[in-house]
Amino acid sequence: MSTFQELGLNEDLLKGITDLGFVKPSEVQQKAIPLLLEGEDKDLVALAQTGTGKTAAFGFPMLQKIDIASRTTQGLILSPTRELCLQITNELKAYGKHCKGLNVVAIYGGSSISDQARAVKRGAQIIVATPGRMKDMISRNMVDISKIQYSVLDEADEMLNMGFKEDITDILSHTPDDKSTWLFSATMPKEVATIAKKFMYDPTEITVGNKNESTSNVTHEYYLVNARDRYQALKRLADANPDIFSVIFCRTKRDTQKVAENLIEDGYSAGALHGDLSQNQRDLVMKSFRNNQIQMLVATDVAARGIDVDDITHVINYQLPDEIETYTHRSGRTGRAGKTGVSMVIVSKSEVRKIKSIERIIKKSFDKKEIPSGSDIVEVQLMSLANKIHTTETNHEIDKHLESINELFADTEKDELIKKFFSVEFNRFFNYYQKSKDLGVVDSRGSDREGRDYSKQSNDARYFINVGSKDGFDWMKLKDFLKEQLELGRDDVFKVDVKESFSFFNTEKGLQEKVLAFFTDFKHDGRYVNVEVSEDKGRSRGGRNGGRRNERRSSGGSRKRDDKPRGDRRSSGGRRSEGGSYGKRSDRSDRRSNSRDDRRPAESSSASGSDRPRRSRRRD
Ligand code: AMP
Repeated sequence: MSTFQELGLNEDLLKGITDLGFVKPSEVQQKAIPLLLEGEDKDLVALAQTGTGKTAAFGFPMLQKIDIASRTTQGLILSPTRELCLQITNELKAYGKHCKGLNVVAIYGGSSISDQARAVKRGAQIIVATPGRMKDMISRNMVDISKIQYSVLDEADEMLNMGFKEDITDILSHTPDDKSTWLFSATMPKEVATIAKKFMYDPTEITVGNKNESTSNVTHEYYLVNARDRYQALKRLADANPDIFSVIFCRTKRDTQKVAENLIEDGYSAGALHGDLSQNQRDLVMKSFRNNQIQMLVATDVAARGIDVDDITHVINYQLPDEIETYTHRSGRTGRAGKTGVSMVIVSKSEVRKIKSIERIIKKSFDKKEIPSGSDIVEVQLMSLANKIHTTETNHEIDKHLESINELFADTEKDELIKKFFSVEFNRFFNYYQKSKDLGVVDSRGSDREGRDYSKQSNDARYFINVGSKDGFDWMKLKDFLKEQLELGRDDVFKVDVKESFSFFNTEKGLQEKVLAFFTDFKHDGRYVNVEVSEDKGRSRGGRNGGRRNERRSSGGSRKRDDKPRGDRRSSGGRRSEGGSYGKRSDRSDRRSNSRDDRRPAESSSASGSDRPRRSRRRD
């Protein structure tokens, strides 16, 4: 069924759907809605990740089935976190905007219990609750769920992971036996199957994708580094992706806090999200993240559970989770609502075997990638700056000063002028990365995922191409596109690295002439596609030889410190002068107040803060 009308939804709900701009039901909606709307009430187990439209999959049928004229509580939705609880409540209110008299009430900890009890008393047909607060309110007789007809266990695996099994059992014991139960879960561990067995009668099972499987919109990459280089690797991944908007997962609250502090200290717009923060602090961080004031949100698995942000470009696993199944949840934070995303894992040699286990669970392969070299990053940043300048709207306030400026540069050639102009922004970055060593670890096979021998990479040609993710490409699509256009074989195009508005790729040197000739005057979707040979010869320094060369350059501990860009000093002058990753400059005070609150300055800034040109970042 390809339209909402065909699913059997009523006029009021269809009006709400039109207002929301939903055009086509998602897979889980197509499978669940007709089933749940059928006359006979059924139990349901649905395996679906967040981001697949599952809230609407249970929300629409529940809204259609309840009696809105009655003030009795008929529907109960249990969800693991306060954030998710609020998100579901808001979604249901939006879906039911035209259902007159509908009252959906959210019940969660950290907010006034008596206010929530009053809201319920006014007649809530649907209650959306976190288990802890719900149990509390039942024990105080603040809610009556003895007449509910529909119950939903949302993100059941997460609720069980968080230790809510007893609470759920207790809550459900206050509900009628003949109600329908709809269980939604991204994964199906034994505990969820046990709950399904215990509380459900002959449930119909639907699956979106395979059990535990990652969504097809997400590509998975891993980066092998020495454990001590983990943090440096993280920064490089961020620097190589100037438009990154990411969640970075750490294993413990302490690591989460420390990584966030180090990133902030190093000038990134980062924030920490973990259970040791107050609710208020967490709300502030989430607000900044949603508003794109924070570009890198460092989070624990538990705290990240309620994150409902659709346009996350990257998930970075700073450390792998203890429970491998958790990886599915992490990577599911990106590639939501039809967008593509990348899930990156930074691993040390001792953990690399876990990648295989994860591949088995998600039923997808990882790409082994190298941590970008200094010159990769310099190039990406330079082209990103060039693109931003190219697309910046001209400020005509400058016109009145143009004559004096022209006078000053009367004898400067255009190329020289461009170079000078770029140098203003770029020198500090360039100087920093020029001295940096490579971080990759060559594994025992000495070759990458594509079976390419590192030692042969000097034979590669690397290209810059002015199309990127905003033209609808991810690395696979671009690789296919190039192969198709150039009529090349399966492995002729490699090292495809897609940024927002441009990309890089490699071929053997022998193909260089063909590639460049083909893209002379080539148009795609009505605009010229420009391909140039990139100065960086294709990350060849990822291998042993280049690595050594760069290592020599950076040898000598004292020199490293002395060479630090001036702005890196922790002086207020340094801070003031270092704005922007070539994009808009964010309001530092605003960012800091949201992300650091009153926490201590970074403890390990000597290990990290000193090692990068400080700058501020903000997404456009
Ligand atoms: P969920 O999986 O319920 O967290 O939904 C993820 C996001 O997709 C939410 O922002 C929904 O509003 C949105 N969404 C749900 N169903 C559709 C649909 N059929 N078309 C477009 N967006 C949708």
